[in-house]
Amino acid sequence: MPSNVDMTSIARNWRLDGVQVPTPSDVVAEVFATDVLTLEELRQRLSKPVWRSLLATRDRGAVLDPAISDTVALAMKTWAMEKGATHYTHWFQPLTGSTAEKHESFVMPTSDGSAISQFSGKELIQGEPDASSFPSGGLRATFEARGYTAWDPTSPAFIMRHSNGATLCVPTAFASWTGDALDNKTPLLRSLEAIHSSTIRALRLFGDTESQRVESTVGAEQEYFLIDEEFYYRRPDLVMCGRTLFGARPPRGQELEDHYFGSIPDRILTYMTDAEHQLYALGIPIKTRHNEVAPGQFEVAPIFESSNIAADHQQLVMQVLRTTARKYGLVCLMHEKPFAGVNGSGKHVNWSMSTDAGQNLLEPGETPHDNMQFLFFCAAVIRAVDLHQDLLRICVASAPNDHRLGANEAPPAIMSIFLGEQLTEVYERIVSGKGGGSKKSGFLGLGTQVLPKLPQHASDRNRTSPFAFTGNKFEFRAVGSSQSVSFPITVLNTIIAESIDALSTTIEARMKKKQSFEAALLEVLKDTYAKHERIIFNGDGYSGAWHTEAERRGLLGLRTAVDAIEHLHSKKNTGLFSSYNVLSSRELEARQEVFFDLYFKTVNIEGETTEWIAQTQILPGALRHLREMKETGVEIAGVQRAVTEMTGAVNALSDAIVELRAQNMELGGDDVHSKSIHMRDNVIPAMNRVRVAADALERITAHDHWPLPSYREMLFVK
Ligand code: ADP
Ligand code: MG
Repeated sequence: MPSNVDMTSIARNWRLDGVQVPTPSDVVAEVFATDVLTLEELRQRLSKPVWRSLLATRDRGAVLDPAISDTVALAMKTWAMEKGATHYTHWFQPLTGSTAEKHESFVMPTSDGSAISQFSGKELIQGEPDASSFPSGGLRATFEARGYTAWDPTSPAFIMRHSNGATLCVPTAFASWTGDALDNKTPLLRSLEAIHSSTIRALRLFGDTESQRVESTVGAEQEYFLIDEEFYYRRPDLVMCGRTLFGARPPRGQELEDHYFGSIPDRILTYMTDAEHQLYALGIPIKTRHNEVAPGQFEVAPIFESSNIAADHQQLVMQVLRTTARKYGLVCLMHEKPFAGVNGSGKHVNWSMSTDAGQNLLEPGETPHDNMQFLFFCAAVIRAVDLHQDLLRICVASAPNDHRLGANEAPPAIMSIFLGEQLTEVYERIVSGKGGGSKKSGFLGLGTQVLPKLPQHASDRNRTSPFAFTGNKFEFRAVGSSQSVSFPITVLNTIIAESIDALSTTIEARMKKKQSFEAALLEVLKDTYAKHERIIFNGDGYSGAWHTEAERRGLLGLRTAVDAIEHLHSKKNTGLFSSYNVLSSRELEARQEVFFDLYFKTVNIEGETTEWIAQTQILPGALRHLREMKETGVEIAGVQRAVTEMTGAVNALSDAIVELRAQNMELGGDDVHSKSIHMRDNVIPAMNRVRVAADALERITAHDHWPLPSYREMLFVK
């Protein structure tokens, strides 16, 4: 099939005709959360005692009284059926990073030939999907292949709609029968307990007797690409791998930077409005949308929420963006690097902590007391990031994210913190004791002596840092666009909880020795900053000089995902996660296995797809062009020159294919770790050589013999 596509027809033929587009008037207020079983909605449907019992489960983790589960289930089913749902599903997040659902009908046939609708308490609380096809990292031996899903009453149930129906989705955790977590939600919920107890303990030291509950908050910005569906189906690499394995750079990329924040083309804007409309109905507070840096790249960001809900919502954002695109003849690419040489996509995870009274613990305060509390929590973050650089790198480690981290557009694989000049200066003054310090006692004295007024809204921005303070939260930018945010949040919650506890312990010890709280606090801030200052870097993270400097400072530089994943099940990390009951040693080890497994499989598929496209599409296309030229007659000097050039390029491609084929035949051993190493050290370089040869051919092969839509075509049709 001559593969090239007619750009004109693709650009012109797409029409909104027949696409049901929601009208903007019913956006937000009327639509928001209409497909969510909110607490209020549920309360109205339950009797007082049942409601109270349910709240106890929700807020204090009490076991749900089996006597009330049938009543709750009935209320949920009635609500869902009123919304048009015919099925329900336990919606969960296996370690693949996606979400899984197995739909069960509400309607049960009866022996007399009629049907009744049913959804019992038992079915609400626990489900039994066949777990054997979800990754478990060896936690689930095949003889006990079953796993179970358990209702998470802290995240509301919701309705997922499709063209002619709807399903009630019950957010659940997923575990093996031995009780080991097989999903991303379980450890996240456990890490929320860690952040809660450590912050409450610290707040009490600061004299806060009111706060009852602290949770971490997350707002995740999602970047993605949109391309026309026509191109997608003509690119087996996109279909198989989610990214292009071939493609010469177009003469114009993002150099002009005219796309960034530019006006959004109508078709795209309509698509975005549609997706947002659905997300609003799901109770997801989408706030911003704009064009991103690369052509064809866009971003959407919600208002932040409690991190467990934010993580569930993030999965839904990806799902809705993907499914809605098809309605508009588009494909949404979530891959971290769909196009080489063009900016990749990330997911900026904004993270903070909030009390039940709504106080943001990373917001610099108005008073010196509040400022000291802020500096304390901020110091805990600095310490955590320095001590656990490995974990921050590991939780974003994947084959696709390797194309992004460390390239000149995304944060480097070295973890560091951008604090901004003003805040850095404040800590430095504390360390040096400049400005007096302990002459007067009491907060006011301390504060006014040591502290300048803290920036209310830090104005300085740094896009090159993997972990940046942005005024009242930290922004973790190394997270990949396609990954689940659950594990990164779990890591942040756990390492920061541990740090807060460590600082509290030191303060308490000093107070036992009769030091005042204020003096102890100042000492702890001073020591902590002095010890972990090396992790602060306010400069250009993309520069080569930073790599040298980071090495001098002794910071970890885990270049590839494989280097990073190797560190997951270390003694330090096992101790950390098990002491906070977030992940047992077994569960952690299982995750390491799963990460290696995903890495190896991803690259393996790419290696084989590369070989296959090069051999069966690109090489034949080039040969047809070569034959045509020879038929034209090599006595023409220009033809002779082209034939010589093409012959060289064809040979280079052919050699590279032979080499890749040999690497693809190998697996690199029996275990996922050695397989991953083989993929990284042998398959990826061999793939790259095939690509270089093929991209060179693309520049000299007649357009009508080139089998794949080019970057020039895919990225610029709107
Ligand atoms: P910026 O100007 O830094 O981009 P925005 O207010 O636009 O700040 O926020 C960017 C993202 O950060 C949004 O998704 C937002 O919800 C999130 N965010 C803001 N405050 C917090 C917070 N306290 N905790 C977690 N995320 C937050
Ligand atoms: Mg941002």
